[in-house]
Amino acid sequence: MKPGVAALCMTKEDFRAQNVPGSFFVCDPDSDGEQSFWYRCPCGCGHQGPLTVGDGFKPRGGPSWKWNGSLDKPSLEPSVNHVGHWHGWLRNGEWISC
Ligand SMILES: [Zn+2]
Repeated sequence: MKPGVAALCMTKEDFRAQNVPGSFFVCDPDSDGEQSFWYRCPCGCGHQGPLTVGDGFKPRGGPSWKWNGSLDKPSLEPSVNHVGHWHGWLRNGEWISC
């Protein structure tokens, strides 16, 4: 697998266990349609973090991202800044650093 590819994990357990840079897992939406998009920092440091996303919309309030709803070729807007590690875009299933 080439660097930068966002690899889907089917379960949160897989996500936690596999420790693959750029891998991700999306939790089920809550009643407002907001979802947690867990990702592993693409830089390879092993850090993980959740982003608040909406499928086709940007949730209101707090830092949040508009997700294109794709698990195959996910895109997020705006850019993702893993502070001190990595800053870039997730576009069509690839992490592209700024
Ligand atoms: Zn990192």
